[in-house]
Amino acid sequence: MQFTQLALDDETRAFWREVNEFIAANRDPALATEPDVNANDQRLQRALGRRGWNIPHWPKELGGAALSPLQRHILALELSRSGAPLVGRGLTHLILPAVEQFGSQELKAEIFPGVARGDINFCLGYTEPDGGSDMAAARTRAIRDGDEWIIRGAKMFTTTAHLADFSFLIARSDTAAPKHKGLTMFLMPLKVPGVEIRPIQTIADERTNLVFYSDARISDRYRLGAEGDGWNVVSGPLGQEHGHAHGDPERLSEICGQGAGYVADLREVVAEAVDWAKCNGRAADPQVRLRVAQAALEMEAYRNTPGAMGRLAVEGLTRAASDFIDLMGPAGVLAKDTEGHVGHGVIEWSHRHAVGGSTYGGTTEVFRNMVAQRILGLPRPPKPAGASS
Ligand SMILES: Cc1cc2nc3c(=O)[nH]c(=O)nc-3n(C[C@H](O)[C@H](O)[C@H](O)COP(=O)(O)OP(=O)(O)OC[C@H]3O[C@@H](n4cnc5c(N)ncnc54)[C@H](O)[C@@H]3O)c2cc1C
Repeated sequence: MQFTQLALDDETRAFWREVNEFIAANRDPALATEPDVNANDQRLQRALGRRGWNIPHWPKELGGAALSPLQRHILALELSRSGAPLVGRGLTHLILPAVEQFGSQELKAEIFPGVARGDINFCLGYTEPDGGSDMAAARTRAIRDGDEWIIRGAKMFTTTAHLADFSFLIARSDTAAPKHKGLTMFLMPLKVPGVEIRPIQTIADERTNLVFYSDARISDRYRLGAEGDGWNVVSGPLGQEHGHAHGDPERLSEICGQGAGYVADLREVVAEAVDWAKCNGRAADPQVRLRVAQAALEMEAYRNTPGAMGRLAVEGLTRAASDFIDLMGPAGVLAKDTEGHVGHGVIEWSHRHAVGGSTYGGTTEVFRNMVAQRILGLPRPPKPAGASS
């Protein structure tokens, strides 16, 4: 853990002001209240691209701005604080290192200028209708045909597929090889014949997608890494998402990187509960005081919980939202903009939102296994009877 204080010089302070002015001038106000995954603020992303700030660590020749780690941290912090929906950019940043490392020169020449401009985004094509936790069991087929591949199958919960240009797709290229050896990764173009994207609406008013690949043909240049080496290719982005790869060597990000978003939501939930208690004459009620204090303590604990363990902050959010709805009674379950709803509707919305949060990016049960094995050094849990190796 790093608790070093940073002294900011005048140049850095000026950069910080510039970032905030830039975001205020370029974000799309029409998207201000959109859930993060339903829309991508393309106007802001293209403006970032024009400055070299879409992929800010890239050199200027590649369309970046060669920003320093501290400048990049300030930019990321203010983009996140602005609440502008940029999930497409976030997913692209997650996948980009794998494309840089494993993509062919031809592929990089084709897409990198568009990525830098903010015109091209990626999404994650891991989960299938039959299961998501065991990614290596992927059944979507990739069948080689000369210089092309035929992609056949379906992917479930491909969030932002309707906004993205490519899916980071895990597919089975060899059905005879052992489970982890028969996989190949692709940067799968989504705007080709044979790809059909259907919406799935979540209870948190968010859109995700079911994507069908019906013998979609793509060139071999969209393959990432060697045939059969897909598990190795996907391990970088997966480790990053699960909090055990360090994508922040300068250690400038939040301590609780995995759970920072949930901690921020929890802070709003606690603040709204305090407002509600004050406005409804319940601030002296010992039950109210106890539950607010418990949620506030939990928030502080998660704020200081690093790596994969921080991901469990979503459970603190689930507990707090459900506890406060209990205290508030019927008004607590009324959605924002419904007559009689409480505050800004943050508690009610968090109650619905946290359910998805404990599932996507790996369920909290799977994270518990990771904590047990990787942090506590406990043995792998026994496989359920009938599970494949
Ligand atoms: C809103 C939303 C957005 C998503 N976005 C994406 C996306 O963009 N791209 C993508 O590829 N996927 C996405 N997902 C899918 C998500 O990653 C999977 O839902 C998740 O990995 C779990 O897979 P599953 O739903 O198939 O459940 P399963 O894997 O079938 O699991 C069922 C239950 O068994 C438990 N379980 C499974 N294996 C273990 C184990 N080893 N140890 C302990 N318990 C276990 C799980 O915790 C769960 O409770 C999204 C999901 C949601 C809900």
